[in-house]
Amino acid sequence: MSILIIAELRDGELRNATLPAITAGKQLAELAGTDCDVLALGKGAQGVADQLKGLGAANVLWSEADAVADYTAEGYAQAVAGLVGDKGYTAVLTPATTTGKDFMPRLAGLLDAGMVSDVIGFEKGDDGIVYIRPMYAGNALARVVVDTPVHVLTVRETAFDAAEAGGGASAVAEAAVAVDPASLNAKFVEYQLTASERPELTEAKVVVSVGRGVKDAEGLKVVEELVDLLGAAMGASRAVVDEGMVPNDLQVGQTGKIVAPDLYIACGISGAIQHVAGMKDAKVIVAINKDEEAPIFEVADYGLVDDLFKAVPKLIEKVKAVRA
Ligand SMILES: Cc1cc2nc3c(=O)[nH]c(=O)nc-3n(C[C@H](O)[C@H](O)[C@H](O)COP(=O)(O)OP(=O)(O)OC[C@H]3O[C@@H](n4cnc5c(N)ncnc54)[C@H](O)[C@@H]3O)c2cc1C
Repeated sequence: MSILIIAELRDGELRNATLPAITAGKQLAELAGTDCDVLALGKGAQGVADQLKGLGAANVLWSEADAVADYTAEGYAQAVAGLVGDKGYTAVLTPATTTGKDFMPRLAGLLDAGMVSDVIGFEKGDDGIVYIRPMYAGNALARVVVDTPVHVLTVRETAFDAAEAGGGASAVAEAAVAVDPASLNAKFVEYQLTASERPELTEAKVVVSVGRGVKDAEGLKVVEELVDLLGAAMGASRAVVDEGMVPNDLQVGQTGKIVAPDLYIACGISGAIQHVAGMKDAKVIVAINKDEEAPIFEVADYGLVDDLFKAVPKLIEKVKAVRA
């Protein structure tokens, strides 16, 4: 087995989600008795390659070729598929972010490869590497063996520590990627990033999430003051997203983002398993809910049974007082 990790870039910068994916790649390499390489594609990839040196990959490859300068699932999948063919990689992995979920299935299609998504661990089995992934909102773990020559994987970033410097020397080289733009049936037009002063949900150390308990836009504002006071990212339950109170990229859970911040504060969220699946790995969970029977209290480290419209303003006052 030889392993290729695809780094994730945004606006020419390395995204933190890449670092746990490198750890996952190293763990897989160790189990398979091989090395791993890492590939950075897109504008700024050469600079990012420099940052990726010494994290444990034997080779750091990069390409800023026109065809991959801006992300498209079609372009990335074709570029990586070509490289896998040229270099003989037998496992390709990337973080299970929105981008990873977007282009890796297409890559698996191009390579006619078996794919396992959301991998949280590896084992050695009688039939080769066994991939462990959660099912049913994390209530069961599946152990999956892939029987195609190439394995395509997305790995859950919250399940692995971030790779750190000191992982040994890496050779850096430009990768020759071959993409036929005419065959892609898609082209990059523009990238519209939601403008926000707040940190990105999956990268924030503190996340304050709102549930249906906030009721409406006015209620949302009460919690937003706490979000900004703490310099936190804002998250939400699907109920709040479905009601159109916040955009869907703030949804935490099984069908939203998986987060593992140092602190997660859930305001007016019941704690349905589909929500808990997205935040249960947070280091400290605080829940504010007026129903003492709410299931969120089963996963909370600190629970406050109270009306959030009374509790959140008090919390804001306390934080301000401590800071003063
Ligand atoms: C296939 C599938 C996938 C799903 N994926 C997701 C997902 O990714 N993320 C997700 O979040 N959900 C997901 N859901 C939906 C999930 O099952 C729940 O319906 C949803 O999480 C409920 O959101 P909520 O907790 O905000 O609302 P509710 O369940 O209605 O809970 C509101 C809570 O607010 C409390 N409350 C009300 N007023 C106040 C107040 N003034 N002060 C304090 N507390 C108050 C109530 O006691 C209650 O516990 C999914 C469902 C399915 C079927």
